[in-house]
Amino acid sequence: MGDEGTKHYSFGTRAIHAGVSPEPITGAIMTPIFQTSTYVQPAVGEPLNGTYDYGRTANPTREALEASIASLESGSRGIAFASGLAAIEAVVKRLSAGDHVVSEENTYGGTTRMFNRVLSRMGITFSYVDARDTESVAAAMRPNTKLVHVETPTNPMMRLCDIAAIADVAHSAGALLSVDNTFASPYNQRPLEIGADFTLHSSTKYVNGHSDLIGGLVAVRDDQLADELFFIRKSTGAVPGPMDCWLTLRGIKTLAVRMRQHNANGLAVAEFLEGHPKVDQVFFPGLPSHEQHDLAKRQMSGFTGMVSVDVGTLARAKALTEHLEIFALAESLGGVESLSNVPALMTHASVPEDRRTAMGISPGLVRLSVGIEDIEDIIADLDRVL
Ligand SMILES: *Cc1c(COP(=O)(O)O)cnc(C)c1O
Repeated sequence: MGDEGTKHYSFGTRAIHAGVSPEPITGAIMTPIFQTSTYVQPAVGEPLNGTYDYGRTANPTREALEASIASLESGSRGIAFASGLAAIEAVVKRLSAGDHVVSEENTYGGTTRMFNRVLSRMGITFSYVDARDTESVAAAMRPNTKLVHVETPTNPMMRLCDIAAIADVAHSAGALLSVDNTFASPYNQRPLEIGADFTLHSSTKYVNGHSDLIGGLVAVRDDQLADELFFIRKSTGAVPGPMDCWLTLRGIKTLAVRMRQHNANGLAVAEFLEGHPKVDQVFFPGLPSHEQHDLAKRQMSGFTGMVSVDVGTLARAKALTEHLEIFALAESLGGVESLSNVPALMTHASVPEDRRTAMGISPGLVRLSVGIEDIEDIIADLDRVL
């Protein structure tokens, strides 16, 4: 079944079928791994299908993955990258020296590092705002602002921003909106449906879901934006390998079932921890105590397995994460297995301390990526160590 043939199906069916057609020579039901750098041309300057000339430009395994993410994000085109950061970089590289970007301040640490230490040297300027407050996004817009970049929910504080409202702010100022949808996954949130121009993923996380590769994906609705991103990728080279594209496609087949279980386990863990005397605060958009719970219910259909908790002190955060059995102590998130992490010393160690404190990343904060193991084992593990 090609992409066109799956349009009317719902999400879980498209996760299995969109972009994937039987291979024409043998009928292989799974898209093969086209592990090749180049293609024989039948005549000079006439590649097969007018497309297949070189692996950086065209690869059928990658194209299947791109059609899949386009479908799952309700876009028209997808573009795959070698990593999440390469995907974000390509979106910003549409801009030129002299252009300005407004970014949520609590994005993935690597995103701010790339903005401040690499892209700003090329003459693009960045302003950082707390995008929970749409007004602060509006106030930061300048005549040369070309892009607003947000992440929702954010890592690790689970802050949300109002995608539809910020899309209006960006568009009325002549800018585009990109949303890093890594934390929500397209199962729970589809930014293109509510006004975003780009939705992007570190597919390293939920989209692939098995912690066995690094990858990035962008989806758009506008063919011209897709052409521009294709051109940037072809010209700068951040392509994912065919094997990684194939693994991601395989991971996507179970995205819907995995996310249902992540959503259920995340909520159960958040509820358990919220009632626990050894826990000071739980950050989870699916809890009524979350300050943006109403927005979460409006904008998302589920709240994933990402749960942050404040256990008071660094010593207690270390004791908890070092003694959990099911939760492995590791960076990254979104895989089927549970992981724990102390952001102040691990994922967010590179963020200056004053900025960490301003964003609420206290030394006692623990970020849990709740996997899809049986929930009674997960809760027993937390209960025992707490
Ligand atoms: C991990 C992550 C990234 C970076 O992706 P890589 O695949 O590691 O390059 C970007 N945004 C978010 C929200 C992430 O969690």
